[in-house]
Amino acid sequence: MKRALFPGSFDPITNGHEDILLRALPLFDEIIIGVGFNSEKKFMFSLDERINFIKKTFKKYKKVKVKSYDGLTINYCKTIEANFILRGLRNPADFEFEKAIAHTNRKLSGIETVFLLTSAKTSFVSSSIVREIIKNKGDYNELVPPSVLS
Ligand code: ADP
Repeated sequence: MKRALFPGSFDPITNGHEDILLRALPLFDEIIIGVGFNSEKKFMFSLDERINFIKKTFKKYKKVKVKSYDGLTINYCKTIEANFILRGLRNPADFEFEKAIAHTNRKLSGIETVFLLTSAKTSFVSSSIVREIIKNKGDYNELVPPSVLS
């Protein structure tokens, strides 16, 4: 069984996350979206809200499960028996950051990280930009799946 963990904060889920997840579906038998609840990080949306947005977005995909986790991503991978980590890459800054983490994770656990390049149409989207628009009462309709808006 090829099971991947797609870890992130998803604060909130964006069209960029959705694009990566949907394009990864044919590659794996199951993808667990792991929503981090790192207590030191301040989130705009609660863990429950973030999970609900994701559940609604992917409710018709049986291969997709949504869970929350804390602590080291590789430890959680072992717990759920995921042998791959899925991550999206938008730009060289993402690559530099992700490279060190992926090397470390593979050295410590043997778990491979699979990267998908973002689609051109969502390459500029980030949760932090969406949060900034929300704070300033702007229109973020075109940046997130409908589940975040309802
Ligand atoms: P984290 O706090 O771990 O960076 P995020 O929720 O911001 O969590 O991102 C989770 C994953 O989704 C990361 O691999 C990130 O690179 C990817 N991602 C975020 N936005 C996009 C996007 N617009 N296109 C492609 N991948 C993205």
